[in-house]
Amino acid sequence: MALTGLQIQKLLPKTNCKECGCSTCLAFAMKLAAKKAELKECPYVSEEAKAILGAAAEPPIRSVTLGQGDGAFRAGGETVLYRHEKTFVNPTGLGVAFADTLESDALEAAVRKLREYTLLRVGETLRINTVSLACESGDPARFTAALLRVAALWERALIARSDDPAILRLAAEKMRGRKLLLASATPRTLAALSQTAAESGAALALTADNFDALAPMVKELEAKQFRDLFLELRADSLSEHFQNNTIIRRAALKGGVKFLGYPVLKFVRTGNSTDDAFEAGLEIVKYGGLVVLPEFDPAVFAALLTLRQNIFTDPQKPIQVEPKVYAIGEPTENSPVFVTTNFSLTYFIVSGELENSGASAWLVVPDCEGLSVLTAWAAGKFGGAKIAAFVKESGLPDRVKTRRIVIPGYVAQISGELEEALPGWQVLVGPQEAVDLESFVKNVLT
Ligand code: SF4
Repeated sequence: MALTGLQIQKLLPKTNCKECGCSTCLAFAMKLAAKKAELKECPYVSEEAKAILGAAAEPPIRSVTLGQGDGAFRAGGETVLYRHEKTFVNPTGLGVAFADTLESDALEAAVRKLREYTLLRVGETLRINTVSLACESGDPARFTAALLRVAALWERALIARSDDPAILRLAAEKMRGRKLLLASATPRTLAALSQTAAESGAALALTADNFDALAPMVKELEAKQFRDLFLELRADSLSEHFQNNTIIRRAALKGGVKFLGYPVLKFVRTGNSTDDAFEAGLEIVKYGGLVVLPEFDPAVFAALLTLRQNIFTDPQKPIQVEPKVYAIGEPTENSPVFVTTNFSLTYFIVSGELENSGASAWLVVPDCEGLSVLTAWAAGKFGGAKIAAFVKESGLPDRVKTRRIVIPGYVAQISGELEEALPGWQVLVGPQEAVDLESFVKNVLT
């Protein structure tokens, strides 16, 4: 649980020596509580206070990393129940499950396909995070060989899955340093698998039928200081799983239930691809840490990655593009000039529709702090005077002969102000929806 400034101050030396740059220990404590300072800035904090304050600074859902380097994937680290309270931190991981019974050529081809798959949306390249390989052959040598083949092609996170601790031990030893996720320990296999995970540097998923069975498993590992865990609670229905995820998040955040403060893992397999997609979507919306689907369908993953991007975009920091004048196509000095805001979604939709129209154009994108058209206008960041100033500063009037600028239809009211601020320019009111830009270009501008 987060500590208040006063609670933190009680743990500080209270000498007001100012070496941390603050005038008093209380001022430093307030900065710590607001996460605007780091504990190490005070050289006199006791070991006891460090232990308490360090633990208090940890998020209630532990952050667990799988894989390494650029391919690493991090789950958990969440601090809020609802995105609008602050932000969600680590997007739900998406993965695809394979079995070692697949012929090696087919397995390699499938993994290559996943590796190549990307979705470019609002300037972000979205990818699949993990591959899961299950031992269905029962043959340790075959499983390990298949896992090594996958690992050679897949530099992102990997899940090794088997009911047999001996099989996972062999695989983990061969993959030491790759930070695997071993799935999944039951009460019966907990001791052996946790030892394998600790020795090989892997994370461990714990599976149980209910909370009562899960609690002693987590507590046993926490007592050994092993905390790179995922929780995989079995459920008989979608509604039960939804309920479990909500209980886990709420109890960890609001109830201080420490044994539930770990990311949730889900292997989806309903037997119906539509239901699989729906269930995976639910994991993204409601507190899943990592969800693995039984097959790869690009259409399903495009939908899931889009949903994930929408849910995990920080509402306090709208994704935005650089404010500047963009060339759409190959514009000349006679090409039309359009204006929109620098909210990424708005920019990519408008530029995409202009490209679709086949016309070349200049797209003026002033700094609107990443707000959409109407929001930016309402906030006083997308008015005629501001746009005119940006156009002049950009040097566009020196580069083009055209003196017509098209504004979004939703802000038709700024046309007079813009004409006044940009003498010699004619302001045209474009369509309200970007989808109508193509017909606007064809019917009005040509
Ligand atoms: Fe207090 Fe430590 Fe800052 Fe000194 S350095 S004022 S003891 S918090």
